[in-house]
Amino acid sequence: MKLHRPALKLAGLYLAIIMFISVFFSLTIYQLSIQEVYRGFSRQENVIIQTPQLFLPQDLRDELLSQRDEQYENAKADILSRLFLVNITILITGGFISYYVARRTIRPIEEARETQSRFIADASHELRTPMAVMQSEIEVALMDPKLNLKSAKEHMNSSLEELSKLISLSESLLQLSQLEDEVLSKSQIEISKLIEEVVRNNKSVAIKKNIKLNLLSNPKQQILADKEGLKKVFNIFLDNAIKYTPKGGEVRISSKKSDGKNIAISIEDNGIGIKPVEIKNIFDRFYRADVARTKSGSGGYGLGLSIAKSIVDLHGGSIEVTSTPGKRTIFSIKLPLA
Ligand code: ADP
Repeated sequence: MKLHRPALKLAGLYLAIIMFISVFFSLTIYQLSIQEVYRGFSRQENVIIQTPQLFLPQDLRDELLSQRDEQYENAKADILSRLFLVNITILITGGFISYYVARRTIRPIEEARETQSRFIADASHELRTPMAVMQSEIEVALMDPKLNLKSAKEHMNSSLEELSKLISLSESLLQLSQLEDEVLSKSQIEISKLIEEVVRNNKSVAIKKNIKLNLLSNPKQQILADKEGLKKVFNIFLDNAIKYTPKGGEVRISSKKSDGKNIAISIEDNGIGIKPVEIKNIFDRFYRADVARTKSGSGGYGLGLSIAKSIVDLHGGSIEVTSTPGKRTIFSIKLPLA
């Protein structure tokens, strides 16, 4: 969405400022020049008047004086037309420059608006899908004259599933909007304990899929961070690692001190992997690497990694991904030590 009108208004404002300064200086220059010219002509006049009649007859004296007046008026007109020309040139070039600068000023706002409207469109689309499923299921159930308790319960269960998807989506959306405010409630936390807790919380899902969860090295380390935020981050990575690893696979979690200033946490799985072309997009909102796979029900809404990245960024950390499709994926998160 291009913001032409605001750009034009801004350019107009810039140009008005430029022209105000230019006209102000032109008037000052005009005044000073006129004074200077007047002083020069006054000196000439004095010389003409004070020259004795013997050397300068009266008629020649009158002619010199009238020529002097004409020259004075010509000089004034000349200065005025030059200043006018300068101002016209400033107006034209200033107009172009103002429009160029205004467009550059507006561009980040345009980009933010585009991102926001894309986000709203994506969010509405994602919210609509489970609601449409629920609506059609309820309609089908209501139209069935022989609906018994068993099938009614089945419909309700299915609607409940869609509802829980809606709740998780709205929670993610809320979280994303809260992260825009860039507010963290930081405290000293022991990162090893936090990782252990997240691993414990994901054990049951891993067991259901017969996936080994291995917490390798996890040295005690304190960092200044938002506890709930980081819990969310590790949950997202661990949940993805389990989700995108076939039954019988393995997920390894390890943390270590890195280059004295950071703590590096790695989450490695031997799952389906991510294609190199898709890696650059996986942190984008609503991006899902493989539409077919996510449609088959294993994926979420493509918001997890963008939430994780926002939280890690707010902590001044970084995330790296290496992946071999069909073999493994490693997410390495670096967080600055307190
Ligand atoms: P989703 O809710 O779809 O998992 P995410 O933002 O968490 O959304 O992840 C974005 C996409 O990145 C996923 O749809 C998936 O295709 C890919 N992805 C993330 N983690 C992994 C992983 N460990 N292995 C393979 N693909 C992954």
